[in-house]
Amino acid sequence: MKHRILIIFLVAIAASFSNFSNAQDVKVKPVKSKTTPKPADKPASDLKTDVQGKPQIVPVTDLKISTWSAPAGELTFPELPYKYDQLEPVIDQLTVEIHYDRHHRAYYDNFKKAIAKSEFESMSILDIFTKIASAPVAIRNNGGGFYNHVLYWENLSAKGGGEPTGELADLIKKHFGGFNEFVEKFNDAAKSRFGSGWAWLSVDPSNGELFISSTANQDNPLMGTSERKGIPILALDVWEHAYYLKYQNKRADYISGFWKIVNWPVVEKRFKQVKINK
Ligand code: MN
Repeated sequence: MKHRILIIFLVAIAASFSNFSNAQDVKVKPVKSKTTPKPADKPASDLKTDVQGKPQIVPVTDLKISTWSAPAGELTFPELPYKYDQLEPVIDQLTVEIHYDRHHRAYYDNFKKAIAKSEFESMSILDIFTKIASAPVAIRNNGGGFYNHVLYWENLSAKGGGEPTGELADLIKKHFGGFNEFVEKFNDAAKSRFGSGWAWLSVDPSNGELFISSTANQDNPLMGTSERKGIPILALDVWEHAYYLKYQNKRADYISGFWKIVNWPVVEKRFKQVKINK
């Protein structure tokens, strides 16, 4: 009898622990990758682990501009701030999974390889972008690819949409005439980008003005080669890999869906972090 009570007691404890660990797992889906070994098997240099060997979660929503001032060689690959299926129906689960865990991860891995044992390893990614004209093309493409996608994932949310508020909303009205006019202009930039590239809303740090632009490939407005340089606060990936499974050639439909999942609080937070050099 005593044994039976003890067994019931132990089973109850085990069950409560397993519930606890399930509750911990709800927030972030563990990364599954064929290319990167699980941290328990072999700690990857880019994936910090806690004392229990679990990946240390670094939500991209916690990344600040100051994070990007760290040496590029120390940058880590951030977790998605939502599950693969949570941007549905705008972006389907498979697209998010392939885009994040294959494309984005490959840019990160290849960026690390490209800067390894070079003068760029100890430079911040922001400094690298400033001097991108003198960097090897692998650093330009993969550094941009890594950075741009962090911004992109971070400025999307399952509970996104609506409009910005406060100072950012006022400035959008001042520069573009209103939110709808801003969306229209941004959509034009995204639709008219020939081939693969990005559309951006950026702040010009020299005068605090907002501007819309688009860049080719994995370039971004921080790069010294940009037509107009600025600090991007909203990023839209218009590569076909971002939408083709669901939208095929209908880029315009993907772009109009984008506004339903924009994470405006994150965009506003970025806007507030920009230091204007007036
Ligand atoms: Mn992409």
